[in-house]
Amino acid sequence: PEPEEARRGGFLSRLFRRDEGPVARRVLDDEMLEQLEDLLIQADMGVDTALRVTANLAEGRMGRRLSVREIKEALAAEVARIMAPVARPLPLYPSKPQVVLVVGVNGSGKTTTIGKLASQFRAAGKGVVIAAGDTFRAAAVEQLQVWGDRAGVPVMTAPEGSDPASLAFDAMERAKREGADLLMIDTAGRLQNRADLMEELAKIVRVIRKKDPDAPHNTLLVLDATTGQNALTQVEIFQKIADVSGLVMTKLDGTAKGGVLVALADRFGLPIHAIGVGEQIDDLAAFDPEEFAAALVG
Ligand code: GDP
Repeated sequence: PEPEEARRGGFLSRLFRRDEGPVARRVLDDEMLEQLEDLLIQADMGVDTALRVTANLAEGRMGRRLSVREIKEALAAEVARIMAPVARPLPLYPSKPQVVLVVGVNGSGKTTTIGKLASQFRAAGKGVVIAAGDTFRAAAVEQLQVWGDRAGVPVMTAPEGSDPASLAFDAMERAKREGADLLMIDTAGRLQNRADLMEELAKIVRVIRKKDPDAPHNTLLVLDATTGQNALTQVEIFQKIADVSGLVMTKLDGTAKGGVLVALADRFGLPIHAIGVGEQIDDLAAFDPEEFAAALVG
């Protein structure tokens, strides 16, 4: 299949001819394993993970006649097994405020995710403050304000082009003063000048640690699930420039079933705290490994 088609999930049906139907059986041999590997790679799982998944699947099943359903179930179980350890909600700390630094490239869904999280925390009765730390993108600051209004959460802003660290410091003071439970800090997502961004993030961290040596308590990396293998590169880059503690995968409501999440879990083991499943404020869900595996396999 075309990569786009494979990403949609349900790719396993391609192991069989259309006219074979759901009860058709095929002997699991080397040729079929290789086909399976190819399909998993096309579904963004990456070569290493695809090889391991098929090897596990083959164990005890080689030479047996299997139906589509049996293969699907076995594969879904393999995927769910890899994903189970990373399905963990955002850990909450008693610190007031708990500081959540949000990083990711522009367009990944940072602003939207911050708005959705703020809304969830508000619904749980928590006091939240947002700092619009991407001070170089006026549009991002405006968007964040819109989301803050929707969530009923104050958004602290600074003049365009001003120092994000200084804004973070002020936001820390305000959150402390108001006894807020959470402070979420948006950050810039321009990877064009990596050294610059790294310095900017490091400075934010230095400054907020003056107020709380344990901050930030979480560094959330927001990833767009539709970018496929790019997500792997982004994790590598952001792990170098920030101390990433967990992931939010956005846009899992689209055609992409997020095969790359399996590769991510396998390679980095970072917790997936939540998934974005739409553009509305309530479209943020806990990551469910079994549901995910079933959707991926189709
Ligand atoms: P930022 O540049 O990282 O802050 O990204 P934004 O939050 O502005 O999001 C970029 C685009 O992706 C916007 O059009 C959002 O509506 C959209 N978006 C964000 N999260 C999701 C999601 O989970 N599902 C869908 N379908 N769209 C999303």
